[in-house]
Amino acid sequence: MSNSQSSGSDGSCLICQNKDWQLVIRSEDVEYRCKPGEFDIVECTKCQHTYLHPIPPYDQIASIYPNTYYTVNKKSPLWLDGWFYEKKLAIDARKLRNSLREFNIRSIVDVGSGEITRLAHFRDAFGPEVEAIAFDLQFSESIIADSKKYNINLFNGNVETNVDKLRDNGHDLIVMRQLIEHLRDPRLAVKNLAQKLAPGGVMIIDTPNRGGLDYQLFRNKHWGGYHVPRHFHLFTQSSLVQIVEEAGLEIHSKGYLPSMGFWIISLRNYFKLNSIAAGDSWWELLKYKFLPVAGSFIAFDMLRIKLGMETSNQFVFARKPL
Ligand SMILES: [Zn+2]
Repeated sequence: MSNSQSSGSDGSCLICQNKDWQLVIRSEDVEYRCKPGEFDIVECTKCQHTYLHPIPPYDQIASIYPNTYYTVNKKSPLWLDGWFYEKKLAIDARKLRNSLREFNIRSIVDVGSGEITRLAHFRDAFGPEVEAIAFDLQFSESIIADSKKYNINLFNGNVETNVDKLRDNGHDLIVMRQLIEHLRDPRLAVKNLAQKLAPGGVMIIDTPNRGGLDYQLFRNKHWGGYHVPRHFHLFTQSSLVQIVEEAGLEIHSKGYLPSMGFWIISLRNYFKLNSIAAGDSWWELLKYKFLPVAGSFIAFDMLRIKLGMETSNQFVFARKPL
């Protein structure tokens, strides 16, 4: 919870342990309103790693994910399903397979994805014989039912404290998409999962980046990547590379990805639309399922990437040495 300071020396940077910080923004939970008061996002004065200050303790984390959260709420304007989503998943899976042609993928683990259709597409792209494991804190009844249909194994665990169900050196591809920014200790999570990766195996991480045009336009207040108070860590590309290399992995490639989500959420925040249910404003066309809007932002960010510019979504593709 905030005080009035805009700088301080009581922080703890995950990356460089520096205690000095400066305020980036102070904001309420504008998207879900599940916690009262204001929260501070601060930046390390030394390495620019950015974090929620203070980060809530483990026992309070469940309370910041209401049952109206967009990943579990079909009424949310950010909910994705239907042909557009299926199409996107199929394209993502094909791209992933093409980028991994030189690797022998026999077991895929998707960590904390909240749903399993994405993993099913990944597995199908590599072949029906490939093992597919969804790893998460818990699974809903509908996911448990779907897992049989899609032939996906569900493993419960916590990437920061308990990854025992995964095999040491046992999995060829571990995917963590839009997850590590939600963790108290992403460094520990990456280290734990690196042990589970087979020699020569691949870890793919993507996470927000303070660098897209949407960030530059909305950085003072409305940027969706802040996601107050649910994003605990916002990485620079070098702080992300650092935790991956500390876990004993080698960077194979890194870069930026389109960030349609933060464009839409930033604009929704600007127009005071919430993420729980659509109202009757004309601006409600700012939603994931409205293809002209979503597609325009994807195309715009792809152009930025082609021109060598940053977007608000970054990735690393890392390999465990043989
Ligand atoms: Zn730092």
